Amino acid sequence: MTQFGDRLMLIGGELVASEGGEWITSVNPATEQVIGRAPAGTAADVDRAYDAAAAAQPEWAAKSIWQRAGYLHKLAAAIRERGEEILQLEASDTGNTIKLLAGDIVISSAMLQYYAGLGTEIKGDTVPASGGQNIHFTLREPYGVTARIVPFNHPFMFEAAAIAAPIMAGNAVIIKTPETSPLSGGILAELCQEIFPPGIVNLVSGYGIPVGDRIARHPKIRRIGFTGSVGTALAIQRSAAEICIKHITLELGGKNAMIVCADADPDAVTKAAIGGMNFAWAGQSCGSVSRLMVHESIYDDVVERVAAKVSALKLGDPLDPTSEMGPVNNKAHYDRILSFMASAKQEGAKTVTGGDVPKGEQFERGFWVEPTVYGDVTMDMRVGKEEIFGPVISAIKWSKLDEVIAMANAVDYGLTGAVWTNDLQVAMTTARALETGLVWINGTQAHYVGTPFGGWKDSGLGREECVEELVSYTQSKAIHILL
Ligand code: NAD
Repeated sequence: MTQFGDRLMLIGGELVASEGGEWITSVNPATEQVIGRAPAGTAADVDRAYDAAAAAQPEWAAKSIWQRAGYLHKLAAAIRERGEEILQLEASDTGNTIKLLAGDIVISSAMLQYYAGLGTEIKGDTVPASGGQNIHFTLREPYGVTARIVPFNHPFMFEAAAIAAPIMAGNAVIIKTPETSPLSGGILAELCQEIFPPGIVNLVSGYGIPVGDRIARHPKIRRIGFTGSVGTALAIQRSAAEICIKHITLELGGKNAMIVCADADPDAVTKAAIGGMNFAWAGQSCGSVSRLMVHESIYDDVVERVAAKVSALKLGDPLDPTSEMGPVNNKAHYDRILSFMASAKQEGAKTVTGGDVPKGEQFERGFWVEPTVYGDVTMDMRVGKEEIFGPVISAIKWSKLDEVIAMANAVDYGLTGAVWTNDLQVAMTTARALETGLVWINGTQAHYVGTPFGGWKDSGLGREECVEELVSYTQSKAIHILL
């Protein structure tokens, strides 16, 4: 028996294994030890989940928003109650360090409560379209059965938060959990089984193909929310387009720029650059400011300070609250990050700190890489333009504002950006010029719930963490009363 045992899926109110009988074994990325299993779902499992969801959804949609909100509040409370257990499992299964990972429990439960409180925003408009004698108004109605596909970096938090908007809007939902780090989905399945009517929330584990692809191709699932990589997003759009018209929103990657002007305080910049790189999850965060673009007058000072802090980060057991960085999530991703490190060397980036695997007995097994800062990076290098999704900062020197803005925008991504200056004119000019869905002025890292999160260009479509997410799980119907 493994440490966390076999975790099950939730389909139609039952905790089940896959009908195919296969399992995914999950390893602790810090040790490579097998710690548990999750069912390797099949297309037939997705179809079972769809059938159960479709049967249950009309009754759910008929409930009042206050009743639906009550269920979400119950789930939020249940998550907090089992928070410590979820944290231990999640840190072991993802490699994310436990001290900051505790925030995922708070956020999961807060997102459920946030959407529970937004029920009256599922509202329409009245439109004076034809003079006083007629009435024209819109209703917002659920899609029916919706699905959401979740990545590996914060599985529990993304899965729990993904339930909120569709369910509040009167839909049933199928959540596809990631194939690496699938175990916490089993706890969420247990909680949802206790709380929701059968079929309203379903969790299906498994690989992208067949599970994710069956969701994309299912002819009756018309609304999909996807969080993950650009390549998978394109595959989902292609698969769906072969079948029928679907509303697909996409939360994808980033190659986010932090533009530091000459007047910025190097100390504050250093803290924000480190925080903004999310080393607590080995940089595996879509919003990480992985391009540190510093004005030439303070470049050496800032890069030196950042490198000093990065090299002092404490790598270690994700379960140890003093660890500041753990391993990266899985072997394939580890190999990918090492290939970026090799390309940085080949392409002439200066290794300021890191750039290798850490030495020592503790790091002999597991997917460990050093937290890294590259200097003198240029935009033609892979580490200058591609998303690494690892603990790697690429420092870039600039001299003219229009040139750095052009460099910041010279990638296909457009998720987040930051500008550091006390000159309001420069701050606003830069913020407006950045081709991203979010800009921090003198900030990094934080999400502000209620404000839209999402990307431009290849970073995505649609907005989450705000009313728009809730409304996007409804479709509008115009009604004309001719008097
Ligand atoms: P991924 O695209 O490899 O996988 C994401 C999910 O898609 C997994 O559940 C996977 O099983 C599924 N999938 C894979 N192939 C599929 C297919 N053909 N059809 C349907 N589903 C399929 O992404 P990942 O490696 O798990 O996550 C890292 C990526 O996610 C990074 O690019 C990161 O920036 C992005 N991300 C974005 C956000 C955001 O909010 N914008 C948040 C977190 C992560």
